Amino acid sequence: MSNVPEQFTGQAAMNEADGKAYKTQPWSYTPKKWSEDDIDIKVECSGVCGSCLHTISNGWPSPTSYPCIVGHEIIGEVVRVGDNVKHLKLGQRVGVGAQAGSCLECDACKAGLQQHCSGKGGMVGSYQGKWEDGSVSQGGYADYTRVKGQLAVPIPEGLESEPTAPLLCAGVTVYAPLKRHGCGPGKKVGIVGIGGLGHLALQIASAMGAETYALSHSTSKIDDAEKLGVKRDNFIVAKDVKATVEKWSNTFDIILITAPSDNLPLDSLYFKLMAHLGSIILCALPETKLPAFYAHALVGKSLTLAGSLIGGTSEIAELFDLAAKHDIKAWTEARPMSQTTQTLRDMDAGKARYRYVLSNKKQ
Ligand SMILES: [Zn+2]
Ligand SMILES: [Zn+2]
Repeated sequence: MSNVPEQFTGQAAMNEADGKAYKTQPWSYTPKKWSEDDIDIKVECSGVCGSCLHTISNGWPSPTSYPCIVGHEIIGEVVRVGDNVKHLKLGQRVGVGAQAGSCLECDACKAGLQQHCSGKGGMVGSYQGKWEDGSVSQGGYADYTRVKGQLAVPIPEGLESEPTAPLLCAGVTVYAPLKRHGCGPGKKVGIVGIGGLGHLALQIASAMGAETYALSHSTSKIDDAEKLGVKRDNFIVAKDVKATVEKWSNTFDIILITAPSDNLPLDSLYFKLMAHLGSIILCALPETKLPAFYAHALVGKSLTLAGSLIGGTSEIAELFDLAAKHDIKAWTEARPMSQTTQTLRDMDAGKARYRYVLSNKKQ
């Protein structure tokens, strides 16, 4: 017999008005019907991601279903293991990112890239996803969560939970495309935006051996960037587009855009900063349409304009190894789960430096 309760309790927005105000309250729900592919996790902590804000405030094109518990940078202890889950055992510390389920059988799933699952039902998000029994998945601002075991990644011993939790979404979201586009020694990599994603991208690109640059609106984060591994000469204030282009044109092999903006200066700025054959990567979604397609600039320098969606378990496991080796840590402030409402509001107000983590260990 397991000691896992029949109902799980989390911090939920109960309706759209509460969600828009980021107001949460304790709410208990019955988890999806148990299958032998599942595990139950006693949640230790869960990072606060931009997607959590969008979802809880009904900011995506597909409407949020309430009550809604968000949180998809989840770390906790395995407290129940299905018979078909062979790589995990009771008591093990694991992490779950933005995906809690998938078909487990298609080529993407077999490669550990479940975010691209093409099987029946596709990827099940860690919150607001649809399980095979028709229930809606609920996220990590809770005491427990139930996920497919294959979607949980063991956490290496040396990594502390709180600064590691944000690697599960923010970290892998930037790691996966950096790796795919050849980030490494001899490459010049510009990171646009120093926030939840960007502060991890700077550490990760440096750890991968690239010459790393930060592109920001102002000098306000230059000291932080230096602590994140960026030389002061590589901190670029891109506010004056003309001056920036004059100094840095044809420089970058990769520009990773982590700050979603409705007016990305692709044509006026980023295309010009790219070296030929370079890749410009969008890994965060603006709330409105992307700018028009700039064929001339892309063709002229043989550039790649690429997108990237989070990362799968194989990429998360690689990132954990890199983090253990290079001491990559999210800069986090941990707060008790009972402060979810205030924390979401502070995140929305841009106060995070650079990630909040909600923890069941804090009172
Ligand atoms: Zn996220
Ligand atoms: Zn699949």
